[in-house]
Amino acid sequence: MASYYNENTIVYHNGKYVKATEAKVDLYGQTMHYGLGVFEGIRSYKTVDGHTRIFKAVEHYDRLKNSAEAMNMPYDWHAVDLIDATYEVLRQNNLQDAYIRPLVYGPANMSFNLNTESNIVIEVWEMGKFLGDKLLRVLSSPFQRPNPAGFKIEAKACGHYVNSILASQDAKAKGYDEALLTDMNGFIAEGPGANMFFEKDGVLYTPSLGNILPGITRATVIELCAELNINVAEGQFTIEQLKQADAAFFCGTAAEVIGWESLDETKFPLDWNKSLGRVLQQAYKDRVTEQPLAPERLNGANKGLKSKEAIAERS
Ligand code: PMP
Repeated sequence: MASYYNENTIVYHNGKYVKATEAKVDLYGQTMHYGLGVFEGIRSYKTVDGHTRIFKAVEHYDRLKNSAEAMNMPYDWHAVDLIDATYEVLRQNNLQDAYIRPLVYGPANMSFNLNTESNIVIEVWEMGKFLGDKLLRVLSSPFQRPNPAGFKIEAKACGHYVNSILASQDAKAKGYDEALLTDMNGFIAEGPGANMFFEKDGVLYTPSLGNILPGITRATVIELCAELNINVAEGQFTIEQLKQADAAFFCGTAAEVIGWESLDETKFPLDWNKSLGRVLQQAYKDRVTEQPLAPERLNGANKGLKSKEAIAERS
């Protein structure tokens, strides 16, 4: 198991900076027993000029609040204060390149009734790469994402991750690196902890919002595509369509942008280094470290870039 903390680690817990080893949590809590809690996964990076920057901090803390409200959990915090607290926890732990995990959890309550208060903890640990640099062998999972008629799928809620864990462990047990889940209608949805895009004939495609977590990295990739003149289409796509793609990648706060080698036993034919995914992987790294966007930095792959006009002419 990874080591997330040691005897010196500081967490922010309900307004106080305390040692991780001394913070206490109630064993009779609704969150631990029933999974009704919400959290975020955020990254901080050392920027090119040496500062520590939390990437899209406001978007993440806004989503935390929306997730809590979707779960009927009291939420009395303001994003600005939590962002200040997060920078302070990073400073106290002497971290720049870090993963940040805020968790909002309920008090002791074994019933299903509403709570009148919530707790918050912000944990940070050093972060390298999540899924690694190599291309992933992905399995189309027998598990589907939770049906939005039964869950508030747009919320980043603790209990939803039982589904993610089942799918990810199943893929790994079968010798793959990661799972790809479909939605309840069989359309491709997302990975256990990341959204996905695929490339076909110079255009990127990604599942529409509705049955997936609305990823902040997904939104960043779409923003970068607009800046780089890459066409993106959102829609409903089948596994069979995906297997005809030229290339594919996952994107998420922890995964960043990571390419796929294959889906099931179907290899993607386009060399990753010549794919739009590779261009976006570099553009994303530049964005999080505040390196200004310079298309000439985006390796040889940008030669393959097709402008919106060129695509429009062809279609
Ligand atoms: N889908 C799921 C199920 C996730 O857990 C994550 C990670 N938060 C994502 C997508 C990607 O979201 P983000 O880009 O906001 O990290």
